Amino acid sequence: MRNLAATFKRVPYYRSSRNSLGLTNEFNALMGLLKFTTSIFKSKTQPHKYFSTALSGFQEKVHSQPKTGVQAPLVLDREYLSLAFYQFQKLGEDELVHLRQRLLKDLEKFEVVGRIYLATEGINAQFSCPVDRLEEVEKYFNSTEPNTSLKFPLPFAPTIEFNFSTFHKKAFKKLNVKIRKEIVSSDIPEGEYDPSNQPTYLSAEEWHSRLTELKTSGKTPLLFDVRNQYEHAIGHFEGAILPDVDTFKEGMNQLIKDTKGQENKEIFMYCTGGIRCSKAGAILKSKGFADVKMLKGGITAYGNFIRSAKEASDKEDLPDKPKSFTSLFKGKNFTFDKKLGEPITDEIISHCFQCGGPTDHYTNCRNILCHVLFLQCASCAARFNRTCGSQQCLDSPVFSKQENLDRKPTFNVHATRVRPQRCKSLLEACQSD
Ligand SMILES: [Zn+2]
Ligand SMILES: [Zn+2]
Repeated sequence: MRNLAATFKRVPYYRSSRNSLGLTNEFNALMGLLKFTTSIFKSKTQPHKYFSTALSGFQEKVHSQPKTGVQAPLVLDREYLSLAFYQFQKLGEDELVHLRQRLLKDLEKFEVVGRIYLATEGINAQFSCPVDRLEEVEKYFNSTEPNTSLKFPLPFAPTIEFNFSTFHKKAFKKLNVKIRKEIVSSDIPEGEYDPSNQPTYLSAEEWHSRLTELKTSGKTPLLFDVRNQYEHAIGHFEGAILPDVDTFKEGMNQLIKDTKGQENKEIFMYCTGGIRCSKAGAILKSKGFADVKMLKGGITAYGNFIRSAKEASDKEDLPDKPKSFTSLFKGKNFTFDKKLGEPITDEIISHCFQCGGPTDHYTNCRNILCHVLFLQCASCAARFNRTCGSQQCLDSPVFSKQENLDRKPTFNVHATRVRPQRCKSLLEACQSD
């Protein structure tokens, strides 16, 4: 049984410390195996190279490289891969409407689900793709030939690189393609910076080596977390500076203030998948910063790098045992899907907003009229009936849209997230209402 449990170490639902039902690791491992086996037999598609990789991964991890040069991911959902890409590129306003129709029509044929934002500054896509359609989709975005319903190639070819998630599943119900003002809102007017003035992109390995080098020589890097405080709270690179903000827009202004006078220094920045750094980096470079470096593919790519290095080093039969790297990122990578985060390391660095105990579990208050996002441990979830604990949410919660739609939200109407430092006073204030 112990060996079976060890086999499932990499499966996220096999995490004994997060097991609120009190089930044993071995039971979970068995359930995982059952779920996994069932999904194999359910699959009607031909096994794809990633699919096969995942299957063989139970005995031995196969390190295949997709064409993009991105490391092959660990496939947990047997039928879908989760991935993202973005590209800053000038697009005409008229072009956006045609492009939207075209993407909707073509990607639905490939059974792709997800959300894609188009703007005159480029494209930002997050989607789940059936494993057996991945090659077609990659070819579709990168082909310079008019290969689809319209008579011209997509404007993105041939440089799109897919950034695979650390874990995989069908993360969206359908495909949405939206036209927006910007793919990342920054509040910096378009004419004030040159989007082509890009920072230096460091691969996960280069990033790790450079930061380790600085650390061992006793130097403190100027390292900025370009995300929001609630993303930073559950996981971040050691020593990262976090602007105390809720949005990238606010964060950009804060970053400009924080970096003032440091134009000649080496600046490092990272975010979830790289898009925010590509923009922030271009803005800083346009403002005269000489040496701006960013983590290519963001924390997602770094997580895959650490995991692959660990798995390679865990193999016992190799003559030259590959090096395992100790992650400089601690905790979870916050993601904007149902899971609200993927673990990069097992450390829990954040605290329950209600009791102060360790937890990295985000939840929305169960009262849909409140719905505030906050960190809650399993015992507080039980104690406060999965609500934020305010008197109103405890006394008269609304749990479904069907219930009493006339009632208006009266709690946390201006706050969608609770911050640790504000949490106590906010809850006290609400409880005294
Ligand atoms: Zn708690
Ligand atoms: Zn609440």
